[in-house]
Amino acid sequence: MKLVLCQLYPEHLSIYADRGNVIVLTRRCEWRGIECELRALRVGEELDPEEADLYLIGGGQDRDQELIAPDLQRHRSSLHRAVELGAAVLAVCGGYQLAGHRYLGHTGAEIPGIGLLDLETLAGERRMIGNILCEAEIDGEHRSIVGFENHAGRTILAPGQAHLARVVSGNGNDGVSGLEGARTGRVVGSYVHGPLLPKNPWLADWLIAQALERRYGPIELEPIDDRLELRAAELASHLARG
Ligand code: GLN
Repeated sequence: MKLVLCQLYPEHLSIYADRGNVIVLTRRCEWRGIECELRALRVGEELDPEEADLYLIGGGQDRDQELIAPDLQRHRSSLHRAVELGAAVLAVCGGYQLAGHRYLGHTGAEIPGIGLLDLETLAGERRMIGNILCEAEIDGEHRSIVGFENHAGRTILAPGQAHLARVVSGNGNDGVSGLEGARTGRVVGSYVHGPLLPKNPWLADWLIAQALERRYGPIELEPIDDRLELRAAELASHLARG
């Protein structure tokens, strides 16, 4: 089996160790004998919606979000098409904001998003920084998500937009709703850096399985010995609980 991973704007959207998400996805594929091809989409390049199975959009400073936004708009319909064709998407923090309709940054500038998720974001005065612990329910299973958040944006989900998780400790989407991230089908958005996937390997495997499904049908992934990862997650959730 083969999985094609496409990271959007790696030089601009990849902060707080988001690169770890790429490493975790490629390694967890390799460990199972699944070939994983990593591609990047950079400003000015073209995107074929048929090619990648999983798209990663990492976090970024407001100025980097602004810088890539016009190019991202060029790919709006291709990315919607890719999702229609069954591709999965993981969008983190700045990337999560851009997966929504718009982000109004701290200068008041409106940065347009691609509307894969039905939400919008407004920068607030106080940055929301710290360890975060939340509880997600995906496909009927309850799972923890642990990591680190650092964002000025407050994200408001439209009525009907499903959240990804409920905050146990930390801020999540806006610091008041108790909600973290958003999910529509195979499109997942989250504020959790840290990076997200090494400490939450179940989510990495969920994304891999979702991404493979479009070519190979429902997949049962071989289990991996995650004792170290789970210890890291335990420590991170301990820190988040304070
Ligand atoms: N620039 C955005 C904000 O501050 C996203 C930051 C990030 O990706 N960590 O809300």
